[in-house]
Amino acid sequence: MKKIILLTTGGTIAGVNIGKSEKYEAGALSADEILTPIKERLAEFESDFTVEPYEVCSIDSKNINETIWKKLYLAINKIISDEDVEGIVITHGTDTLAETAFFLEYTLKTDKPIILTGAMRPSTALSADGPDNLFRAILVASSPLAKNRGVLVVMNNEIHSAIDVMKTHKNNVAAFKSPNMGPVGIIVNDNPVFFGAVAKFKHKIYIFNENITFTYVPIITAFAGDSGELVLSAIKRGAKGIVYAGFGAGTYPDTVKKALDFAAQNNVKVMIASSVPEGVAEARDENFASAGLLSPQKARILLMLELYGE
Ligand code: ASP
Repeated sequence: MKKIILLTTGGTIAGVNIGKSEKYEAGALSADEILTPIKERLAEFESDFTVEPYEVCSIDSKNINETIWKKLYLAINKIISDEDVEGIVITHGTDTLAETAFFLEYTLKTDKPIILTGAMRPSTALSADGPDNLFRAILVASSPLAKNRGVLVVMNNEIHSAIDVMKTHKNNVAAFKSPNMGPVGIIVNDNPVFFGAVAKFKHKIYIFNENITFTYVPIITAFAGDSGELVLSAIKRGAKGIVYAGFGAGTYPDTVKKALDFAAQNNVKVMIASSVPEGVAEARDENFASAGLLSPQKARILLMLELYGE
């Protein structure tokens, strides 16, 4: 029997309102409870697959860190070696969902569907979006069409690649967009429909073991009048890499260039990104790497993995 493994990490999708207020506790539901509202719909597919839920952690995703990524990565690697496992769904808070998806995209070597989903409204809200997102994520994970497409994010009936997806709205249920490439597909009548035959993006995969520790790589965001002081303190703090989220296509004040040059001379890797979400950031200096279309957060993960790989 085909198995879809559900890994829960917390977030609003497992959130429960506190009393009658708008406030809610993220990650309050167990892995089993999160499935309750969609049990009947899943029963329609019981001859095709079963869903096995496991809790990885139960937190608000603002507290996700490299230790949890490592735990998730090691757990998934074990799970996907089971032949009966067809795909994996990970429920996650929306705040750092795109970062976790990107981390897994660059570290997992598998053609099995790995799907992340979340919700903007807690489970006790009038029209919670979590059950629908979870149901559709499970459908995508069980589909052969989703194989070999890299890590995907299913939100609000759209399917996005981990490479480009971003949280672009602070409150709305339509909170995720792929600013450069658009969604790679949608879900229609319980079936994923992919736009085009785009397979997984080709890039290096960083394989690691449980002993890994990631190095400190901060993101520094450009602002008018930046003196470069924050770059210098990052070097002092022992950063081995710095992502500088510049203006526009990746520009920075002359004062910052001086500080970044000093970083490069001291073997600190500099990657130039941009705080503007659409388009490509290119470093204007050959000593610095370019983040291209990656958000500063994703550029940071890539740099962290590159530094580990050396
Ligand atoms: N605070 C939540 C989280 O990221 C937000 C959400 O899930 O939508 O865990």
